[in-house]
Amino acid sequence: MKLCYIDESGTPEQSGPTSHYVLVGLAVPDKLWKTHRSQLDRIKSKYKLEHEEIHTAYMVRHYKEQGGIPDFESLSYKDRRKQVIKERSRIIAVLQKKNSKKRKSTERSYRNTHAYVHLTHDERRQVVKEIAELLGSWNEVRLFAECIDKVHFNPRITGKSVAEQAFEQVVTRFEIYLRNISEYGILIHDKNETLEKRLIGLMKEFLQSGTSWMTLEKVIETPMFVDSQITDSIQLADVCAYALRRYLEYKEEELFDLVFQRADRKRGASVGVRHFTNPACVCKICASHS
Ligand SMILES: [Zn+2]
Repeated sequence: MKLCYIDESGTPEQSGPTSHYVLVGLAVPDKLWKTHRSQLDRIKSKYKLEHEEIHTAYMVRHYKEQGGIPDFESLSYKDRRKQVIKERSRIIAVLQKKNSKKRKSTERSYRNTHAYVHLTHDERRQVVKEIAELLGSWNEVRLFAECIDKVHFNPRITGKSVAEQAFEQVVTRFEIYLRNISEYGILIHDKNETLEKRLIGLMKEFLQSGTSWMTLEKVIETPMFVDSQITDSIQLADVCAYALRRYLEYKEEELFDLVFQRADRKRGASVGVRHFTNPACVCKICASHS
């Protein structure tokens, strides 16, 4: 049995702030779940992140407040956290008087990054890199992804939204993989209040009458929606989705090269990952997709 963890990076809305929407499926054999988990735990505990979610986009940001603390790097984890919290409270108190919109977005950003404030920017990047290296070393794991350049996406031609096309593509490629290895698989999706109902409805249609390309013989059940905060494997899919999108939008190669090793391949071609753009470009995904 393969467990396929699904997560996204970028916004599916065509007017959103990112040029790409990336949906990833990370297929993991059930029998390796425990081994993988303990390997991941080892990295997390090294950086005192045992009970924390790995949310890549929040982790790799610059936290300006850290820069304002003298000798931040030489402090202990405990003191770094204490100092950052103090500095953040001071900033919020200043904004309280001046700008309530800015205060709210700053508070949100502080909440999202609270778990990581004891680590320097370099250390936070290192955590993500070590996780990507670990993932890249797992030969039995397969990566599926649809990376949509929204500029070239026309819902009138496809008859689907960006999110629907991405989901259908990932499900179809996962099905092909499962048929090749004669195993069953289920989808485990990051909780998504906006999309949940639509995706369950779509999956019911696929199970009944197939996707646009094939019937589903090996993918079973409707997706299970889980909380990424407590499901480590969804966090791994998050690292992959982030790495693919940052490569396509900013040409960042380090994380991409590590996770792209796991793309499902057939005779050397990465059939599991596609860059939807027009015309096909010269990126590593287009070059190796057939
Ligand atoms: Zn490309």
